[in-house]
Amino acid sequence: MLPGIKSKLPNVGTTIFTVMSSLAAEYSAINLGQGFPDFKMDEALIDGVQKAMKDGHNQYVHMNGLLKLRERLAEKIFDLYHSPINAGDEITITPGGTYAIYTALTTILQKDDEVIVFEPAYDCYIPAIELNGAKAIPVPLQFPGYEINWDAVREKINSKTKAIIINSPHNPSGKLITEQDINTLKSIIANSAIYLISDEVYEHLVFDQLQHHSILKYPELYQRAFVCFSFGKVYHCTGWKLGYCVAPPNLMKEFRKIHQFNCFTCNTPMQYAIAEFLKQKENYLGLGKFLQQKRDYFAQEMKATRFKPLASHGSYFQLYSYAGMSPEPENEFAVKLVKEFGVATIPVSAFYSQPQQNQVLRFCFAKKEETLQAAARLLKMV
Ligand code: PMP
Ligand code: GLN
Repeated sequence: MLPGIKSKLPNVGTTIFTVMSSLAAEYSAINLGQGFPDFKMDEALIDGVQKAMKDGHNQYVHMNGLLKLRERLAEKIFDLYHSPINAGDEITITPGGTYAIYTALTTILQKDDEVIVFEPAYDCYIPAIELNGAKAIPVPLQFPGYEINWDAVREKINSKTKAIIINSPHNPSGKLITEQDINTLKSIIANSAIYLISDEVYEHLVFDQLQHHSILKYPELYQRAFVCFSFGKVYHCTGWKLGYCVAPPNLMKEFRKIHQFNCFTCNTPMQYAIAEFLKQKENYLGLGKFLQQKRDYFAQEMKATRFKPLASHGSYFQLYSYAGMSPEPENEFAVKLVKEFGVATIPVSAFYSQPQQNQVLRFCFAKKEETLQAAARLLKMV
């Protein structure tokens, strides 16, 4: 008998997204939990992949990603954020945003380093920090607006602080980083050696005429940043697991040392197809409006329920409070909604390392109207 494996993540179970999606499948519930669209992606992009395969683009592309794709991304970044990014040494195509974040953290972290993480936090951040022998230092966002408490950040910074992870639009709250946040961040880290990991996978999913403040726009911040993106969220194909990381050449050089031995290179035909599809700017420029309509449609339907919305200005998600409806903790309440009412959501407590109960659930509104309507009808009964 082999001895059991000494776990590298002894306190980690199965991610809440898999838990809730499996429960939804088991109880045939409507799944507004895990963030993925239930509407179709663009057929033209699928045709593009097929064409690339038929044209014979089926072998490894360059380990940093198809150059044409990286060039198109550099053009897009220049158009959107006026930042000159070099496709050659500042962009690497990755198998999704999660991998980009993991690789960025692995690139910079040494044993016992500390990384500041705002909570609620997307659930891949802390395990990736801990797997690298470093320590996550949680800073709670202020409920119910989920603003960043910069004084709390200042208090946590010390000589071990290696990085800060920021995520805007924010999962799960839908909160956006403001210009004021950016200025405060600049002043806090100006004379430090602190890196930034900026998770911008929802960059285009911004509502209410607000603006996405990409770290790419601010040279003082970008010089120390790994900025992570996902094509899954842009082209409604989360299952393609393709994304990219943008970082200055000196940082990207180290990132690639790790990438070359972990993944080496990503799916070739999809890179050809996306490079071509990126020419159609309206596809990503119209995304905010498209998703905002869904947020508003769902909010309208939810008015007939007792759930109360919190503000969402971006992402796929809106939080709803059930305070006053049930005293149950979020996890129990979310499980009950699946089993007894047929709707799956995500308990926000799953995004905290310290127990936190605000009686809020996360709903994914990146769904067909009929799905959102059917879910709201069931939730009326709660
Ligand atoms: N960051 C956030 C905030 C996310 O919600 C997700 C999930 N899409 C990711 C990163 C990971 O994206 P991907 O599926 O491309 O790994
Ligand atoms: N990012 C998606 C979410 O927040 C899920 C991705 C995953 O299941 N890991 O729901």
